[in-house]
Amino acid sequence: MSKVFAITNQKGGVGKTTTAVNLSAYLAMKGKKVLLLDIDPQGNSTSGLGVNKHHIKKCIYNVLVDDFPLDAIIVPTSVKNLDLAPATIQLAGAEIELVPTVSREVRLKNGLANVRREYDYIIIDCPPSLGLLTINALTAADGVIVPIQCEYYALEGLSQLVNTVNLVQKHLNPLLTFEGALLTMYDARTNLSNQVVEEVKNFFGNKVYKTIIPRNVRLSEAPSHGKSILEYDPKSKGAEVYEALAEEVLKGV
Ligand code: ADP
Ligand code: MG
Repeated sequence: MSKVFAITNQKGGVGKTTTAVNLSAYLAMKGKKVLLLDIDPQGNSTSGLGVNKHHIKKCIYNVLVDDFPLDAIIVPTSVKNLDLAPATIQLAGAEIELVPTVSREVRLKNGLANVRREYDYIIIDCPPSLGLLTINALTAADGVIVPIQCEYYALEGLSQLVNTVNLVQKHLNPLLTFEGALLTMYDARTNLSNQVVEEVKNFFGNKVYKTIIPRNVRLSEAPSHGKSILEYDPKSKGAEVYEALAEEVLKGV
């Protein structure tokens, strides 16, 4: 049975998509069958893997709103063992359209039920909000991974995020676990980065990944080529750290 991880933080620009794409690619490289599920209307994971949004007829919107079968929207990617459930801008309407519907929080979980046995890992790239899309991801997931940018205000909003995770555990998904916080965009030259690392360790205790993702320009270039770092520059520092993260995730620490 697959493990489902939601990559969540209601802040934008903290490295959710970069982590979703590159963690998925390295899990796939290590021989696991992986599905990357894009539930951000911006569709950055979708374009980041080189999938042309103009060629997509049905996306995760149709699964959530029209009960369209999830397996019918899945497309292969250029990375072996890695499939994608794409998102397009159409998904922007889902947050509002779902409000009056029955079982609005469990639609993604229900959609996933039929495909879970096909994959070892399912990685969900969440939008920058704690709205219904993210609630669907947390309800469908076994674990939450929270990327945290080593910047000013890094910890702002984290209590709210933890609260939301607790509420979902209590009311919708009692088996949901907090997998770990992932420090991103670390810059060893700044005191600030080191300060954030300490603060995050104080806040999350041992639930912080040992792998820390540094700022790496190759990681920021890869999406504009529609490639994961595994294909774009496998010898870069960015590739090395996401491979290390994949190993940590495989060990389940
Ligand atoms: P989110 O999905 O949380 O909004 P992204 O993964 O899209 O965040 O990252 C925001 C921006 O920062 C993107 O332009 C991305 O390419 C860049 N970025 C992410 N991680 C790194 C990194 N480790 N080093 C350099 N740039 C990064
Ligand atoms: Mg994103």
